[in-house]
Amino acid sequence: MADEADVIVVGGGLAGLVAATEITDAGKRVIVVEQEGEQSLGGQAFWSFGGLFLVDSPEQRRLGIKDSYDLALQDWMGTAGFDRDEDHWPKRWAEAYVAFAAGEKRSWLRAMGHRIFPVIGWAERGGYDAMGHGNSVPRFHVTWGTGPGIVEPFERRAREAQASGRLTFRFRHRVDALHITGGAVDGVSGAILASDSAERGRSSSRQIIGDFTLRAQAVIVASGGIGGNHDLVRQNWPKRLGDAPKNMISGVPEHVDGRMIGITEAAGARLINRDRMWHYVEGIRNWNPIWPRHGIRILPGPSSMWFDATGTRLPAPLFPGSDTLGQLQYIMSTGYEYSWFVLTQSIIKKEFALSGSEQNPDLTGKSWLMTARRATNKGAPAPVEAFKTKGADFIVRDNLADLVTAMNKLSGDNLLKLDFVKAQIEARDREIENPYVKDAQVMNIHNARRYIGDRLIRTAKPHRILDPAQGPLIAVKLNILTRKTLGGFETDLDSRVFGHDGQVMKGLYAVGEAAGFGGGGMHGYRSLEGTFLGGCLFSGRNAGRAAAKDAG
Ligand SMILES: Cc1cc2nc3c(=O)[nH]c(=O)nc-3n(C[C@H](O)[C@H](O)[C@H](O)COP(=O)(O)OP(=O)(O)OC[C@H]3O[C@@H](n4cnc5c(N)ncnc54)[C@H](O)[C@@H]3O)c2cc1C
Repeated sequence: MADEADVIVVGGGLAGLVAATEITDAGKRVIVVEQEGEQSLGGQAFWSFGGLFLVDSPEQRRLGIKDSYDLALQDWMGTAGFDRDEDHWPKRWAEAYVAFAAGEKRSWLRAMGHRIFPVIGWAERGGYDAMGHGNSVPRFHVTWGTGPGIVEPFERRAREAQASGRLTFRFRHRVDALHITGGAVDGVSGAILASDSAERGRSSSRQIIGDFTLRAQAVIVASGGIGGNHDLVRQNWPKRLGDAPKNMISGVPEHVDGRMIGITEAAGARLINRDRMWHYVEGIRNWNPIWPRHGIRILPGPSSMWFDATGTRLPAPLFPGSDTLGQLQYIMSTGYEYSWFVLTQSIIKKEFALSGSEQNPDLTGKSWLMTARRATNKGAPAPVEAFKTKGADFIVRDNLADLVTAMNKLSGDNLLKLDFVKAQIEARDREIENPYVKDAQVMNIHNARRYIGDRLIRTAKPHRILDPAQGPLIAVKLNILTRKTLGGFETDLDSRVFGHDGQVMKGLYAVGEAAGFGGGGMHGYRSLEGTFLGGCLFSGRNAGRAAAKDAG
């Protein structure tokens, strides 16, 4: 096997695969170096829900959604809140990315066989004013086939390039250093890890059985973020979100270890916005874990009532699905690291979705029949029902007194007072009869149901939480779940990395989560969702094209 190529890509996740295939399409040779085994190809994207931020798509238009580049850019900027000198490139990436999402993104993917589920989700709805955080309209386009469906076209192209000799995979090769000659990055070296048959997503051994050195004209760092390394997450935790949580669960496999970020920084690359991260507050412990501390995120519809650990309802507009980091900040300010959803069987049935390819066998398996049952079934989707019966964070009871007793028992904190919780639920329930009311969450539910996609599969018919006919009652203890790294290596629009001295480092590129999905943090402080896979596609594509051109 050759130890040199035109370009080396570190990481076989989505961003690495996109970059590598653009390089081989340009007729150049590439080596993809990946610390995990072949069975893990695709990295986090395989596990993802496959949700993609697209703007003014045919799918949106079919549902009557009027979207535009201007509206999406307004939402993006209100959400990002760019306010730093180092936001120069992140902001330029944001503008370019929104244009990509409103332009070529869909047709480029479609030409590779990618398809979209026709009901568009409405994530991060905000609740502030038109210039504030959130999506004004539904934009979350779920890949038909979820995560595996977004990896598939790029894996196929990579395998074709491998067959023609232009692409070489080096699995179980862990990069420990970047090589620099005469100021230009021209290779990598590291450890060869013992082969390991651990299934995809499970932790693999770090036993070293050898070493390696590879040479090229350029290196693309596509090594992902830090979400699997809780120490690093705590170290980078910003004060504005309160103290770093002591207890978190993991929304990513252990290989999302952030190690290569330290190695690249030590080689001279400029890491910016490391305090910007995207973690969720609706995490539930997986009863059937794949990776350590495995947690799943609930993608909630708008109707569950949300209480903090003391039993106080979260303030407006912090309703389910509105403002992830606003909720995180509020929850951390309570002095407790968890919160509660209280809902009914009617709500769970229609509104609970779980993020992750393995939690959505209908969409992942591309089964129209199974997917149609989301709209017609009596119960919730099977994976949600499984959590309801087996999940450590779920409580199901016939009456509120028993529910609150069980909630106190589960938390062990004994903070919840039945009368206080009951008064808040009853007050909300009194507002449910009229379609125009005061309670902002109830108003949100009415608003959601005016969108056909939500009415079909995401928002339960308004009803009283304490109506026994809608029961049983359900409480879900929600944990903080680590996921995405929003900061990263500062890059120009060709994904070229800047050094500590502010000059482009010759031969070095960064893509995907390692580059803050472009520029060193194209999301700014917050995301509109479905923007991460897309950031891997866009930054990987730009890097691959530029690196191939530079390779002469
Ligand atoms: C459950 C789940 C659901 C998600 N849902 C969505 C969604 O619906 N929409 C969306 O936009 N995003 C979603 N995401 C986020 C998205 O999947 C990730 O942000 C994205 O896939 C990151 O891709 P990446 O290529 O940058 O990094 P990764 O996928 O982390 O790949 C990096 C690769 O580099 C390898 N590596 C690291 N260091 C080294 C080294 N030193 N040497 C060699 N190899 C190394 C790793 O082993 C890994 O394979 C989800 C993520 C998860 C986990």
